[in-house]
Amino acid sequence: MQGANYIDGRWVDGATPFTTQNPSDLDESVGSYTKVGEAEVREAMAAARRAQPAWAAFNMQARADILYRIAELLKARAPEIGKLLSREEGKTLPEGIGEALRAAQCFQAAAGDVIRAQGEWYNSMRDGFNVLVTREPLGVIAAITPWNFPIALPSWKIAGALAYGNAVVLKPSSFVPGCAVMLAQIIEDAGVPAGVFNLVMGDGRATGNVMIDEADGLTFTGGTATGRAVLTRAAETMTKCQLELGGKNALVVLDDADLDLAVEIASNGAWIQTGQRCTGTERLIVTRGIHDVFVERMAKVAGSYRVGHALDPETQIGPVANVQQFNENLQFVIDAQAEGAELAAGGGAVEARTRGLYMAPTLLTGTRAEWRCNQHESFGPIASVIKVEDLDEAIHAANACEYKLSSGIATTSLKSAERFRKASKAGMVMVNAPTAGLEYHVPLGGRSPSGYGARETGSTAAEFFTESKTSYINHGAV
Ligand code: NAD
Repeated sequence: MQGANYIDGRWVDGATPFTTQNPSDLDESVGSYTKVGEAEVREAMAAARRAQPAWAAFNMQARADILYRIAELLKARAPEIGKLLSREEGKTLPEGIGEALRAAQCFQAAAGDVIRAQGEWYNSMRDGFNVLVTREPLGVIAAITPWNFPIALPSWKIAGALAYGNAVVLKPSSFVPGCAVMLAQIIEDAGVPAGVFNLVMGDGRATGNVMIDEADGLTFTGGTATGRAVLTRAAETMTKCQLELGGKNALVVLDDADLDLAVEIASNGAWIQTGQRCTGTERLIVTRGIHDVFVERMAKVAGSYRVGHALDPETQIGPVANVQQFNENLQFVIDAQAEGAELAAGGGAVEARTRGLYMAPTLLTGTRAEWRCNQHESFGPIASVIKVEDLDEAIHAANACEYKLSSGIATTSLKSAERFRKASKAGMVMVNAPTAGLEYHVPLGGRSPSGYGARETGSTAAEFFTESKTSYINHGAV
């Protein structure tokens, strides 16, 4: 893969070359790209600003048709995109293709939003007046994305921004820019006018700062520490922000849970996609009566997974996405053990036929809610078990962590489920379902510090991607 930046409808090489590695095989390089400097980022922002008014005024049906065409092209190229994603990020091929199809669905839904977008009309307190509340595009959107969903995350940000008449500059993670380059090619092929969408590759802080300074809105997904830094920067220019950040999601398993279902949803949340989902399950809060049998079953499942090369059809769990994350995961387990956690499964690297970043699905037991291993996000295939007496203690433990992204409960009691749903401080609550696995037509996101500002998906997308205007019309007595 040779990928350039895309600025004002032109493919541009920057001055600083870089390559990406296949996490399934560190001896294989996947893509060659270049990072642009500050001047080119400014040019991308300026191009977006020039192009945005015409895009906002673009015929509504024609704009919807273009977004629909992007969806169709994404679907047609899903096998190719999925394979690149698997090679660059390490998801298994079905997961990679599935993510590309999800990206297509985001554009498909956004095409409908172009047409559905509406305003409101009110009676006035004053005779002879009407009041209109209309929504206008925010303007130029800076979109900054992490490495764990390289096609879906850029897509739902871009789809929402374009649907509501904004222009966009995207900066993908430098670990996985390949899918963003393919998406830019598709956006060009679908007929989006030059300047309306731009792609820049660069270092987080240097590129991000220019984007934040020059944008009308920032939609950011990444870690909470980075989120704090971008929010601080955005405060200088009072740039509107929408941040989706880290998580430390808890699944409560009660004595009355359906054991098979509890093990299925807990193992899915903890280990599928190598635990690299922001909504993955990192804490398992289990009541005393079911604890031992649950742990035994979970350890068995952990040991049964086939961990290996992302393109191997037998593989169920691909590699960790990059060396930095891999080393952090291994250190996380060592630190947890030093705190007193016991290892019920996994804990270390796994050998495979290629020199990849393979880690065994890991289960830590005997942990306490306040320990570091239950307070810090690991973002790997690692879950720790906290034993509790009852639902009250479970609710307390689930909320005893600063992160508030997703949470879940496994129980056959409707009353317990409803108590937990109401008491959870997370932005999303799952009942008898994995903490991960989200749908794009409803609001997605966590409460601070797992999220900040309006949600970017579903009915709330318009809140971020538009500004409201209230107009008082004195039409006179009629
Ligand atoms: P990260 O915060 O390190 O990087 C995210 C993006 O920000 C990258 O493109 C990076 O280059 C850029 N960046 C870094 N420093 C910057 C700065 N000072 N200014 C502007 N941009 C900067 O995150 P990551 O390691 O790529 O992704 C993993 C994290 O993302 C995890 O914490 C995970 O929970 C989170 N995440 C959250 C969600 C969600 O919806 N809440 C979804 C996916 C991932």
